[in-house]
Amino acid sequence: MKVHAIGGYSEFGRNMTAITVGKETVIFDVGISVDNIIKLQEKGHDADKMSAKALYDAEVIPDDREFFKKYGKQVKAIVINHAHLDHVAGVDKIAGKYKVPIIGTAFTLEVLRQKLGKKSRLHKRLVQLNAKSTYKITDNLSVEFIYATHSIPQTVMSCLHSPEGRVIYAADFKFDEHPVIGQKTDYKRLRELGRKGLKLLITDATRVDREGRTYSESLVKNMVKDTFAFINTKNKAIIVTTFASHIGRLKTLVRVAKQMKRKPVFLGRSMFNYINAAERIGICNFTNKAMVVHPRKTRSVLKRIEREGREKYFMIMTGHQGEPNSMLVRISQDLVGFKLLPEDLVIFCSETIPSPVNEANRNLLMKNLKNKGARIFDEVHVSGHAAREDMREFLNMTKPEHYVPCHGGLIKLSSAVKLATELGYTLGENTHLLQDRQELEI
Ligand SMILES: [Zn+2]
Repeated sequence: MKVHAIGGYSEFGRNMTAITVGKETVIFDVGISVDNIIKLQEKGHDADKMSAKALYDAEVIPDDREFFKKYGKQVKAIVINHAHLDHVAGVDKIAGKYKVPIIGTAFTLEVLRQKLGKKSRLHKRLVQLNAKSTYKITDNLSVEFIYATHSIPQTVMSCLHSPEGRVIYAADFKFDEHPVIGQKTDYKRLRELGRKGLKLLITDATRVDREGRTYSESLVKNMVKDTFAFINTKNKAIIVTTFASHIGRLKTLVRVAKQMKRKPVFLGRSMFNYINAAERIGICNFTNKAMVVHPRKTRSVLKRIEREGREKYFMIMTGHQGEPNSMLVRISQDLVGFKLLPEDLVIFCSETIPSPVNEANRNLLMKNLKNKGARIFDEVHVSGHAAREDMREFLNMTKPEHYVPCHGGLIKLSSAVKLATELGYTLGENTHLLQDRQELEI
């Protein structure tokens, strides 16, 4: 069995891993680097209109060129674990040449369909697979989807069943005991696979350097409510910014808005797109309870909010990382006809994803908000990634013969390998530190 670390092993983002068994190969995830997309946008480029070659050069998509030359013809399927851009958004640029089924859950495929646009030839290759189900790829290989919790609906872990043993690819996940939507991670199945024998476990290492556990998304409801305790919100705007794809979080915010007797309003293109994808497959229904604003109607809705009274509304919008052109950034720069007033409340239901681009953008946004006298509440948030003690339990639960961390730079991956050595694994023998474009035989 060979493990191909194609992308996401030398930096955070543009994840792509492949497993070869005999003469057959399966790819897991084809993501983008969100950071490098933002850099392109800041230079005025539109990544959707750029060629694959230009996107390789800009380090936006994983560099699978060498891999494709050697293994392209024997790839049998592309499996996508969840719909975050760093796992799925590279599909439209590089998946076409493999000419194989692209397997994902309903929500993942719905997000992918939006990204592909109507004319893409890839639509006919999309294969929906639900959690707790298995898809036969070839006579020798099948993939099983296992329920997992994360920060986007219908995330799964994938188990590849092969004549040389089983592989679980688990990027990304957390262990949430009280998920706001969807089911808990299927611990029973993971233990069962561990008992039957697991050849290899691959996990993301995003948060493995944080001690302790990652707590449940259900805590966020009280965190948001407590944000307003003792505060006189009369005549004040309430603006919450969070991850547009985090449908469970959006559900919580709608509930809090209703309790505060304010009308929830979703603003920003990504909010509109993700909510539409979620509603189309029936996992939420915000349209009845909230205003989901079409990007073209933004100005008129914001005018209406100013006219009718900002205290009647609870605005939920894009912009938590200070992304250029996001709604909160445009509001902070007076570009959309809504004027922030002193003591308006701005709540970041997010944490800054650590990268120089995000940190610079966030600093600028904070400065603009503070100049306007807004009251800022930062990190009203619970992470979607497993922390160190979660990861330890995962390894205990599944007892893989080999462990490989992915999705992080050298520091994160080393931290995960160190954890494995604490559990008796040996670096280079049964836990492995891979970098982009490296190959490992086990
Ligand atoms: Zn993710």
